[in-house]
Amino acid sequence: MKVPYRTGLHKVAPATYAYLQPNGSWGWSNAGLVVDGDEALLVDTLFTVALTRQMLDAVGQALPAAKIRTLVNTHGDGDHWWGNQLLPEARIISSAASAEEMRHSGPEPMLQALAAGASDPGMRGLTDLFAPFDFTDVTPTYPGETFDGELEVKVGTRAVRLIEVGPAHTEGDVLVHVPGERVLFTGDILFIGGHPVVHSGPVSRWIRACDLILGLDVDTIVPGHGPVAGKPEVTRFREYLHRVLDHAVAAHQRGRTALEAAREFDHRGFEDLDDPGRLVLNVGAVYRELNGDGTPAELELMPQMLDVTTEAR
Ligand SMILES: [Zn+2]
Repeated sequence: MKVPYRTGLHKVAPATYAYLQPNGSWGWSNAGLVVDGDEALLVDTLFTVALTRQMLDAVGQALPAAKIRTLVNTHGDGDHWWGNQLLPEARIISSAASAEEMRHSGPEPMLQALAAGASDPGMRGLTDLFAPFDFTDVTPTYPGETFDGELEVKVGTRAVRLIEVGPAHTEGDVLVHVPGERVLFTGDILFIGGHPVVHSGPVSRWIRACDLILGLDVDTIVPGHGPVAGKPEVTRFREYLHRVLDHAVAAHQRGRTALEAAREFDHRGFEDLDDPGRLVLNVGAVYRELNGDGTPAELELMPQMLDVTTEAR
């Protein structure tokens, strides 16, 4: 099913929908919906209460009978759960590792960083990135149910499989597989159209997650950011991760900083991807794996990331 990349709710299979938010850059995440009769399962809420309300209104209009009884948060980044408060009666599920991460990733640290960024020229770009979003009315609403490994959830009579593949993008990434419709929601295990962000790593584990996806019986793959895709895009994304890993390991051996390594990256085949500055973060994540002492810290790389994105424009 060819799905246009436009803001809103799109049918991707007879009873499965994707809610898309172009252009997929910082904070513009996708969500998903699986329906059976009057029962529905939502995959992720959005970055703000207002954006989530817009999405729920669109769901209510298209499917007036559907009641969202279950919400799955694919991981602990705010753009996938900060709208949870609008579903107070739903059963909210995440991996145990994501739930733990959420405890430390409410909007408060973000609001503080943005306030600090307003007076720090190096961080001003960060404030600009998040300017479209208002987090002031976010009340962190956490999962009431967690799991490790795999969990099967019912939506009416339909089965939905939750598969934990993190730590990779974050500590507890989960895939949401709808076997009856050959659909997969990947959360941020897949980015289409832009460079991904490696927060946690290891990248090798993220590559294994791609292998797992390629082995699933699915046709339609809804990424956490970007247009609806299929297996060819996963194969290409896997190649990207491999290239980042190989490049970063070699650059680390040569004593390059993460910034130098990002600037020396071979973009061939990936020139079309947005947000190239994220390479600084991604190389940095591999360096943290290799250093084993938590350096270089992600926050310290943020200003350099913004520089590289600006240089590329
Ligand atoms: Zn995201």
